[in-house]
Amino acid sequence: MNKGTRDSKQRKIIEEYLKENNNHPTATEIFDHVRGKMPNVSMATVYRNLDILARTGKLQRLSIGSKSRFDSTTGWHFHLLCQSCGKIVDIDHPKIPKEYFNIPNGYELKGCNLEIIGICPECNRTMPDTCTDRYSQELLMAMANGNPMSCIQIATSAGRHPQSVNGKLKSLTENGFIVSIEKGIYKITNKGLQCLKEEK
Ligand code: ZN
Ligand code: MN
Repeated sequence: MNKGTRDSKQRKIIEEYLKENNNHPTATEIFDHVRGKMPNVSMATVYRNLDILARTGKLQRLSIGSKSRFDSTTGWHFHLLCQSCGKIVDIDHPKIPKEYFNIPNGYELKGCNLEIIGICPECNRTMPDTCTDRYSQELLMAMANGNPMSCIQIATSAGRHPQSVNGKLKSLTENGFIVSIEKGIYKITNKGLQCLKEEK
């Protein structure tokens, strides 16, 4: 197979892969897939072919987070990034058409990288119920003797700034690891103690 044929075969594999897996893969993920079908392929040729596909408008190159990603949906659309797991989903924006932007004359638009950041439902469901992150553990540790403590006492004992612990105390309260026995006074619960024990 000559180089040109190899390249077009490779581009076809890339295009098909992206049509079936439009989860905005990185070049490395695409490379791994192509290598499964064409074992002798090099990263450099995959890059070159991705570049050709992007320049000819078959794919859209995105810079989301720290990596370049590729998208076979080339129409005008935005992205929503989960900052916890890195998943990227498409979002519609009927109220923000191209015309909303004052694009200077002479530009031909090739894509759109507007990125909205959030936490996906899967991550949101698993995160608040855990108390295993370091910050939670520090706060629970500070309260481990079971005595009621004020927000300031907890913060001081954990070596944190009092204002910064409020959000965490709220989420620990909502998830039953501590209780608020009066305004600004907290006490660790059995569930909280359990969580500390599990971590040790
Ligand atoms: Zn997520
Ligand atoms: Mn997309």
